[in-house]
Amino acid sequence: MAKFSFQDFKLLSPWVTRTQSVAMRRKWYLDDIDSVLNEAQTKRRGLSSGEVQKRQKQFGLNALPQKKDASVFVLLLKQLINPLVGILIVAGVISWYVGHTVDTVVIIVVIGLNTVIGLTQELRARQSVNALKKLVYTYAKVYRDGKLTKVNAQYIVVGDVVEIVLGDRVPADVRIISSQNFATQEAILTGESEPQTKIHDALTKKECAVADQDNMAFMGTSAVRGKAIGVVVATGLESEIGVIATALKESEHPPTDFQKTLGTLSIKILVFSLTMALLIFGIGVAQGRELAEMFLLTLASLVSLIPEGLPAVVSIVLAVGVYRMSQRKAIIKHLPSAETIGSVSVICTDKTGTLTRGEMMVQGLISRNNTVTVTGNGFIPEGEFFENQEKVIPPTNGEIYTLLKNGILAVDSEIEYKDEAYSIIGDPTEGAVLVAGEKLGIKRADLFEQVDEVMTYPFDSRVRYGGNCITQGDHTIFYVAGAPEEILKRSTRVYDGQYQREMNDHDKAYFQTQYSNYSKKGLRVIAVGFREVAQENTNNPEAENLILLGLCVMIDSPREGVEQAIHTAQQAGVRVMMVTGDHIDTAWEIGKQVGLTNENDSEDVRLRQVLSEAEISNLNDEQLGARLQDAVIIGRVTPKSKLRIVKALQANNEIVAMTGDGVNDAPALQQADIGISMGITGTDAAKEASQMILVDDNFTSIVNAMEEGRVILRNLRQTIAFLVTTSLGEGLIILVGLALNLPLILLPLQILFLNLITGGTNNIALAMEGNHHDTLRDKDMVKNNRILTRDFIPYGIIVVGLMTVVSIAVFLYYQPEGVEKARTMAFATMVFFQLWNVLNMRSLRISFFKLGVFSNMYVIGSLIASVGLMVLVIQSNFGQTLFSIEALSLVEWLIVAGITSSIFVAGESWKQLRKFVFKS
Ligand code: ADP
Ligand code: MG
Repeated sequence: MAKFSFQDFKLLSPWVTRTQSVAMRRKWYLDDIDSVLNEAQTKRRGLSSGEVQKRQKQFGLNALPQKKDASVFVLLLKQLINPLVGILIVAGVISWYVGHTVDTVVIIVVIGLNTVIGLTQELRARQSVNALKKLVYTYAKVYRDGKLTKVNAQYIVVGDVVEIVLGDRVPADVRIISSQNFATQEAILTGESEPQTKIHDALTKKECAVADQDNMAFMGTSAVRGKAIGVVVATGLESEIGVIATALKESEHPPTDFQKTLGTLSIKILVFSLTMALLIFGIGVAQGRELAEMFLLTLASLVSLIPEGLPAVVSIVLAVGVYRMSQRKAIIKHLPSAETIGSVSVICTDKTGTLTRGEMMVQGLISRNNTVTVTGNGFIPEGEFFENQEKVIPPTNGEIYTLLKNGILAVDSEIEYKDEAYSIIGDPTEGAVLVAGEKLGIKRADLFEQVDEVMTYPFDSRVRYGGNCITQGDHTIFYVAGAPEEILKRSTRVYDGQYQREMNDHDKAYFQTQYSNYSKKGLRVIAVGFREVAQENTNNPEAENLILLGLCVMIDSPREGVEQAIHTAQQAGVRVMMVTGDHIDTAWEIGKQVGLTNENDSEDVRLRQVLSEAEISNLNDEQLGARLQDAVIIGRVTPKSKLRIVKALQANNEIVAMTGDGVNDAPALQQADIGISMGITGTDAAKEASQMILVDDNFTSIVNAMEEGRVILRNLRQTIAFLVTTSLGEGLIILVGLALNLPLILLPLQILFLNLITGGTNNIALAMEGNHHDTLRDKDMVKNNRILTRDFIPYGIIVVGLMTVVSIAVFLYYQPEGVEKARTMAFATMVFFQLWNVLNMRSLRISFFKLGVFSNMYVIGSLIASVGLMVLVIQSNFGQTLFSIEALSLVEWLIVAGITSSIFVAGESWKQLRKFVFKS
């Protein structure tokens, strides 16, 4: 037979193009495995890197088109369809109608500027969301050059051989060639939410709908049980999901607490503004002022009272904050959640890999008659064995060798050597066992080479063990590894010397004691056992009547910096709780090492601080809530209890951050106010259920994100305080002026200009304010996502009071020089008040001089621009006619700048004073 080139392969390719109908697609489910491999021009051990590159060029990326972003035009319309802009448009039309064409022009300019600013902010926020999305991609485990490796799922090609384990998202459409207790959830494709059991045999039924293709797994569905190996037969747009839909649906998010708070506040402001405007109109009309002018004035006041820049400010603060978080290794998947992390009151964190390094290493091996220690460093497979302080090489027929060998046969991970470093594909706990084996020359690949069939039961945190059912010739053996109490409970025999015998009470007590001693040292212990099962039971082997081999003891030391981070969190008023599946004693010891618990605490305290699964299951929800008031270390937790813990804490009015990595953690992550998943060790299921992903799995990153979350909240508060106080000031000046029966202090156009200066650029500059490193010392930020806090009140009084009183005084003082002059001075005064106030509002607590004059260049830029614009309006002929203003002399400019600086002086003085008043 002539050899086909890859080009021919493409021409003869069974893969249909998008335009062809689904019915014409190749029916992979009918083929036996050999023809599948043949057809996809691949081998059981996958493709070579060279071949992959060729196919990548040919077929392109394995990606679905992202949900199309709304077009710029739609965003533009969104800016315009807005009640505030509506009011402006009405004002413009009325002005034009009554012959004030100039007003109309200015209003158009205001609308234009507001739209442009809103649009740019929106685009910026979108950009940062898209940039974050790129950081959250799915990995696929794929065989390349005969070795299992992890790659970005985008680079998968047809013919790749991939491994899929529970918790993974299926990276492409695959024809399964080996399945072990495997099932997927295909709701996304078929609407069926029950797990679909998968097999690897060819089907015989000629026409199968997607839902019936039992030997296929489809892109976008997720593995909920077992493990499978499959050949990729369709990627990207050619996959089933690519054909029917165009993009994976993004999950909907209910509004966060903060969004609700913001919504209520907006409504309050709106109502307040309308009342104020009505008052202005009512008083003016009652005084018999000209109706058309009063109408314009009312509209102008309304426009300035309503902070129409708010939505743009919120987007920009969130976008900037989320970007800063990503720089600090925390990725937020949904923008508004970025603020939630700032107000959490409890962090429930995993131990393994989050507080600890997760680079587990086997330090000791304990069988019935031998206790061996192992030296080494992380996952590097080099080290020595010692027994009674003497170097030994455990003999191949001895207990220790057998323990290790069977341990390797029980687990399901692989060591990867890449870029001159060793890492684990799979679970670090299992990796540690593999590495220990390699130190003795036992290689996983060699062991599995000799076997006929393997059924994998990946470690399941609900039952706390996992294993492999391995058939070799006539024998099928189920190798199991798991938490010692589980394995001990299920063991009836023990390996003693080269033989197994009945397990007696002495044996049990021996292993119990060993287990307990090592746990107390903060070490993680797993036990290994096995049993023979009947071949027909490989689909459902029972982990009962096991023969116990012994224990593997592993060290997992605390991460650097975690102790400090925990301390920082506590200083910030946030409780840190360790929620782990590990043994209570191990958890307690690690807790001590990272400063969660205190060595010197009495037994009493300790009893209150520790909570175990056994206890939790005996408590009702209310009792659990009470117990959680003191609990610090929660051990041996099952995923189900994690969910109960979150709920109980929330019932206690806590705002809960919860970490998780496993498939079964998804419900707890979803329930938490902010679910945090692990970027490295987390399953796809956990990542999808979470709102935040830790790039480096590190607890410290949570605390860093918390700091950024608080900066976000603080910037929002300050910017909103700025908008609210200045709007209020403007409103009051008009109202008081009217009440005093003065001529209009500010004309409608002048009010609109003022509004532009505050709402246009200066608030955006404030929104960019950086981290002042003070938020983590502020216990008031816990559980507090109110926007106008008590910190705001003094500024409300100072700012609004000064603005109103001084501006009116200036007006009265200059009134003898003519009303136009007086208005110009009042107008200039108002504008300068706003500008000085920007300096106040960079922080409601820290002195401007301490922050650094140039530490927010946006503010500097925006102030210079504002002053320039002001000078232009007041000094140019054009500006003067447009705004009915007179030119000011240098002295008058200086007077304005001087008296308005009072607002800054008052603000600064308050910052000094507040420490004594608020005592924080
Ligand atoms: P955590 O990750 O919070 O420490 P897990 O639920 O993963 O807790 O683990 C609970 C216990 O199960 C561990 O203490 C250990 O004894 C055992 N264990 C954990 N992972 C594995 C594994 N991959 N294989 C076998 N046993 C494991
Ligand atoms: Mg774990």
